[in-house]
Amino acid sequence: MAYATTNPYTGEVLNTFPEATDAEVARAVANAHAAFLSWKNTSFAARAGIMQKAADILRRDSEAYARLLTLEMGKLIAEAKAEVELSAKILEYYAEKAETLLAPEKLSVADPAEGDAVLVHEPLGVLLAIEPWNFPYYQIARIIAPQLSAGNTMLLKHASNVPQCAAAFEKLMREAGLPDGAFQNLYATRSQVEYILNDPRVHGVALTGSESAGAIIAAQAGKALKKSTMELGGADAFVVLADADMEKTVKWAVFGRHWNGGQVCVSSKRMIIVDEVYDRFLENYTAGVAGLRAGDPFEPDTTLAPLSSQGAADEIKDKIRQAVAHGAKATEVGPTVPNRGAFVQPTILTEIAEDNPARYWEFFGPVSMLFRASDEDDAVRIANDSPFGLGGSVFTSDTKRGAEVARKISTGMVFVNHPTMVKADLPFGGVRRSGYGRELLGLGIKEFVNHKLIDVVDIDAPF
Ligand code: NAP
Repeated sequence: MAYATTNPYTGEVLNTFPEATDAEVARAVANAHAAFLSWKNTSFAARAGIMQKAADILRRDSEAYARLLTLEMGKLIAEAKAEVELSAKILEYYAEKAETLLAPEKLSVADPAEGDAVLVHEPLGVLLAIEPWNFPYYQIARIIAPQLSAGNTMLLKHASNVPQCAAAFEKLMREAGLPDGAFQNLYATRSQVEYILNDPRVHGVALTGSESAGAIIAAQAGKALKKSTMELGGADAFVVLADADMEKTVKWAVFGRHWNGGQVCVSSKRMIIVDEVYDRFLENYTAGVAGLRAGDPFEPDTTLAPLSSQGAADEIKDKIRQAVAHGAKATEVGPTVPNRGAFVQPTILTEIAEDNPARYWEFFGPVSMLFRASDEDDAVRIANDSPFGLGGSVFTSDTKRGAEVARKISTGMVFVNHPTMVKADLPFGGVRRSGYGRELLGLGIKEFVNHKLIDVVDIDAPF
């Protein structure tokens, strides 16, 4: 868990960062609490000004922020720029909407004797965010924009392979005018994370990451009686119905599976195609994937990025081997990927039998699982036969029917004729092993506030 910048394209270790000392962590918690005591009383307008300023700085220095993303975790430079803009949009969303989203709500009561009841939404205090490397800025923005806007203060433990992105965001918020202590990045160890969760001044934790990390942190939070939200893995279904526009569908399938190097919680990891069009889809999809160009993520004509680390590439290759050992057929597609850098050859897995455990795995890279469904109902059955429940999509030229099928898919987000919409003004989150809680919108900002009842009652008798 040593914090280091390693360029995934060259394998070069560019910088290392010492872990925080216990004294630094203790000081950070104290500072975050001290900051909370005044930040909670800061006006929405003042907080909004800081969020908007942070968005403006991101846009002003978008090139530099984007380059750091590509350098540390290898995403394509165009995708890095899009992530910077998305992060700015999230900060802006809460700058505009936090006050309205958290406005006191007058309750409609059955009997006037119950009083004049109002629900107010007050911040809880210091919160901890634990974030993954695949969208280093977006993941931070998704949690700190709503929570700082609500009046909470934040500590961040980011993934150990994106230490400079984490530091850059802390600097950004300081430059935007956030008071000292209100958002602090820590190169924390696992035991320090546990220490933070046990501090009585800390009131919750939001984790985005793997199931295994989620299970550990949710248990630690539960033991300390702290609120948690978990945004975990996914194996989104990409359902293709017989009437789908094949050209458009294949284009979105190639994108949905391979953007961000295939390392997205909502990547289209399981393609489920009805029998009638399975062979045509397979042929066109294989050709589409073969057209990807693996290479330097800083080069504008590269369309397939390396994975975030050599470790991640080795892990996925091992998973492919295991899937094949259990009976799947693996077809490597396209020109051979460079042997320099953390690349994995795009691979299509077919013939994944019902008893093949790989059916239920998350492949975090350019590996597509294809399933042949006998009909629409069978496609829905396969889509729902997953431990995960994050996103998913349905492709059809009948959008009304698409929306009906979407209702049958048991996940947090389903899209018709698009693999996924990751936007500032759409909610994000899942069910089952994909976690619990929601980020973004009013749902996200209300995850870590005290929904407090204030009731002005003026009656003479108890009954
Ligand atoms: P990961 O290994 O779980 O790491 C995520 C974060 O948790 C990192 O900051 C990591 O720190 C930290 N962490 C891991 N174990 C910990 C522990 N015992 N105590 C404290 N912190 C701990 O996940 P990843 O491999 O980086 O990310 C990929 C996973 O995230 C995939 O499953 C993906 O689907 C999921 N994801 C979900 C969403 C969503 O919104 N649902 C979004 C993006 C990604 P270190 O780096 O120091 O280990």
